[in-house]
Amino acid sequence: MKAITFHGVSDVRATDVADPKLVEATDVIVRITTSAVCGSDLHQYHGRGGGALVQTGAIMGHEFMGGIEEAGAAVRGVRTGDRVVVPFSVSCGQCTWCRRRLPTQCTTTGRAVFGGRFGHVWGGGQAERIRVPFADHLCEKVPAELSDDDALFLGDILSTGYVCAENGGIRPGDTVAVFGAGPVGLLALQSAQLFGPARVFAVDRVDYRLALAAELGAEPVSLDRGDPAEQLRALTGGHGPDVALECVGHETPFTQAIQAVRPGGTVSSVGVYVETSMGFPAREAFFKGLTLKMGICNARNYMTPLLPLVQRKKLQPARIVTHTLPLKDAPRGYAIFDAKQDRAIKVMLKP
Ligand code: NAD
Ligand code: ZN
Repeated sequence: MKAITFHGVSDVRATDVADPKLVEATDVIVRITTSAVCGSDLHQYHGRGGGALVQTGAIMGHEFMGGIEEAGAAVRGVRTGDRVVVPFSVSCGQCTWCRRRLPTQCTTTGRAVFGGRFGHVWGGGQAERIRVPFADHLCEKVPAELSDDDALFLGDILSTGYVCAENGGIRPGDTVAVFGAGPVGLLALQSAQLFGPARVFAVDRVDYRLALAAELGAEPVSLDRGDPAEQLRALTGGHGPDVALECVGHETPFTQAIQAVRPGGTVSSVGVYVETSMGFPAREAFFKGLTLKMGICNARNYMTPLLPLVQRKKLQPARIVTHTLPLKDAPRGYAIFDAKQDRAIKVMLKP
């Protein structure tokens, strides 16, 4: 089959690889209908990530969905022909951490991610087919009326954006600032609106991304106009927003979020930090009495509850899709998403 494989920094290629096969009786093989390029793929693409680089030749991608082509003998919850979406992290559903609803900490799979640094075991979703283990636990059935563009992000960035907003503890009437108007930030923005804020700001420097954030109800704050913390304070009577949602994944926006938020406020962060440790204004956070929350998203817990919100259009994830390319053109998809060319926000891939 065709798949997108990693060959080094800024080098992903469409190559021919062996078809995946059922290994365990609890596996399924999914014939992929749509996958996507994630901001987290860019960390690998750039060779960032604390030595945990994907192996050369590994199949990329952890956002994918499709139809079940083959099911192992022990699979009960789904069957051949079912349309399913799967979370980005590989988890068993049964170990100590999975039972504590922390599937990203699964000890059975060693905290694996599809297409991640265990790519030799768990191939990625930027391919024609994929082996999905623990199928009864991982597969979420997708109703026929939901498009791929609306369903796909349940497995990763929609759940991540939602968790970011939820961790922000937004109360009705609050003022919220979202740092980053990329795919995750835009979905955090949509999710934040569900909690009844009076005002939402979106911080970025990319004008067309800020324009979509504005269409989604946010007031844009451009980094090109100077320090975002100062701008946000000026826009909120000198106080700063109640809640900051960090959706970038670097020291700078995390620091800016701490500086911006009002005393007693909350900073919720879902950006993946490529630095293994980083400096941040701990003293300022302490004396302002901030609540700080961060972490990888346990997407499996959110797919089932968020699906009806997408069905009823309370969340409209497909609005961030700007490009749909044939799978073989994924190298171009990575390049334009990375360089923010051609007004790219979310790049979808069709095998
Ligand atoms: P992206 O790179 O497209 O978006 C990041 C945006 O932040 C860009 O538009 C960029 O211009 C903007 N930006 C850069 N510096 C900024 C600053 N100082 N202030 C405000 N905005 C700034 O990526 P994405 O797909 O939206 O992903 C965002 C982050 O979320 C990545 O780090 C990704 O790895 C992470 N992520 C985390 C999880 C999780 O489980 N926690 C899941 C998916 C993605
Ligand atoms: Zn587990």
